[in-house]
Amino acid sequence: MKILNFGSINIDYVYGVPHFVKPAETIASTSYQVFMGGKGCNQSVALAKAGVQVYHAGAIGEDGIWIKNQLNDWGVNVDFLTISDGPTGHAIIQVEPSGQNAIIIHGGSNQAIHSFHIHDVLQHFEKGDILLVQNEINALPELLLAASERGLKIFFNPAPMTPSVFELPLETIDVFIINEVEGEELTNRNTAEGILQKMAEQFPNAATLLTLGEKGARYQHASEIRSINAKKVKAIDTTAAGDTFIGYFLANWALGETLDTCLQKATQASAICVTRAGGAVSIPSKEEVM
Ligand code: ATP
Repeated sequence: MKILNFGSINIDYVYGVPHFVKPAETIASTSYQVFMGGKGCNQSVALAKAGVQVYHAGAIGEDGIWIKNQLNDWGVNVDFLTISDGPTGHAIIQVEPSGQNAIIIHGGSNQAIHSFHIHDVLQHFEKGDILLVQNEINALPELLLAASERGLKIFFNPAPMTPSVFELPLETIDVFIINEVEGEELTNRNTAEGILQKMAEQFPNAATLLTLGEKGARYQHASEIRSINAKKVKAIDTTAAGDTFIGYFLANWALGETLDTCLQKATQASAICVTRAGGAVSIPSKEEVM
C-alpha cells in the first residue's frame, strides 16, 4: 500500500515588527526568519518521521529547491514534485511583540498544478493505495475524481476551509480529517457530537476524524466510535499540531495498527509537537513517540 500526498509547499517569511505596517507606511523589521511550511509539506514530514514511505506530489518554484532537498533528507520521496515557473507558494508574516500576526499568502506554484501532472502521477498508484489531500492546491476536483476512479482511498483535510470545498466531489472522500472550525463550517453544528452526527448523515460511507485541540480527538465511522483525550502538556506553539496528528494517524493506519493505536500515537506525537517552537521542525520522530 503506497501513500501519495498531493499537497502544498510554502515558504514562510517571518518578520518581527514593532507594529503592523499601516497604509502608506514603511517600517524596518526587527528580525527575519525563513521556514518551510504548508499543510501538505508538514503532513509529509509527519508521515516520514512516523516511519512510512510517503510520495509528496505538488509544485514548487526555483526558490523552493532547498525545501525539496530538506524533504528528501527527512525521507520524503520527492520524485513527483515538479519545478514550475514562478515562485513557490509563500506567506509574508508580520509578528508584533505581543505575538499577534498578520499574514499575506501567495499561492504561487501550489495554484499552478496542471491536469497532465495529476494524471502522470496517479498512474504510479493503484487500487488500495492512499491519497492524502488538503485544501491548498488548485485542480482538486480533477484530482479527487481521477483518484477515486483508480480506486485510491482518499483522506481529505479541508484546511484551510473555504466555500469552494462545498463544490468539490465530496462523495469521493473515504476519511474526512477536520478540526472544530472546519467541522462547524461543513455541518453548521457547534458541538463535537453535532458535527459527527451531521457528518455521518451527509457522508454515510465516509469516516470522520475530528480533532479538538487540547480536548483531544474523536473518530466515527458508521457505528464505530472512538474518543481520546489530549495529553496534558505545557503548550508553547501549536503550529503543525494538526498536521502531526494527521501524519501519525495515517502512518499507523497504513502500517495496519488498530484504530486505538493510531489515535494514541497521533495524540502523543502532536502533544510533543505543541511543546516545541516552529512548524515541520517541531514534529517528533517515531523514536520519541512511545
Ligand atoms: P493546527 O492548525 O494548530 O495545526 P488543528 O486546528 O488542525 O491544529 P487541533 O485540533 O488544534 O488541530 O490539534 C490537533 C491535535 O493536537 C489534537 O487532537 C491534540 O491531540 C493535539 N493538541 C493540540 N493542542 C494541544 C494542547 N494544547 N495540548 C496537548 N495536545 C494538543
